[in-house]
Amino acid sequence: MGRLDEATFTALMRGCPACGDVRLEVHSYIDRIVSVMLAEPDDDGRWAHDGEKFVDGVYRVRCTACGAVAIDAPECPRCHAPDGLARALASTSRLKVPKRCACKGSELLVGALVPATVTTRAGKPPPPTTTVAFGEPGFHVTRIECTDCGELTEPSTCPLCDAPGPLRPRP
Ligand SMILES: [Zn+2]
Ligand SMILES: [Zn+2]
Ligand SMILES: [Zn+2]
Repeated sequence: MGRLDEATFTALMRGCPACGDVRLEVHSYIDRIVSVMLAEPDDDGRWAHDGEKFVDGVYRVRCTACGAVAIDAPECPRCHAPDGLARALASTSRLKVPKRCACKGSELLVGALVPATVTTRAGKPPPPTTTVAFGEPGFHVTRIECTDCGELTEPSTCPLCDAPGPLRPRP
């Protein structure tokens, strides 16, 4: 269970608690997959979250009409460690992507948690956007998979804030 459950989130998406406007800026830490060749990204990547993971990663909700802040959670969106969000946004990924796998394969599929923003509106929400690219502060690698041999590397601590595991399960 994240900071928000589905029911609370759904109620919030009906409109700002202060003014009722439906255009809410929602910030969430969500999954992105990037193809990496010799430790350099091959592409901008693609989103790999679902609705439940999006809700689970929400750390800030702000009304674009009146500026009211409905959610402002300083804890880590992944493990809920106190003040973990600031550590996550300010630091670069602790799990570094190597140039090659032990098998010499140079094409790695990298999963990451990335801060993203969606401004909701009536009807279907638009896709999330992010300003944080591979290698930048806030972009945290959660898994590295070799496309040749399938070798999988995952961090032993929280990928966002480095708090010790075990990590809570995600939805
Ligand atoms: Zn408002
Ligand atoms: Zn954490
Ligand atoms: Zn390999």
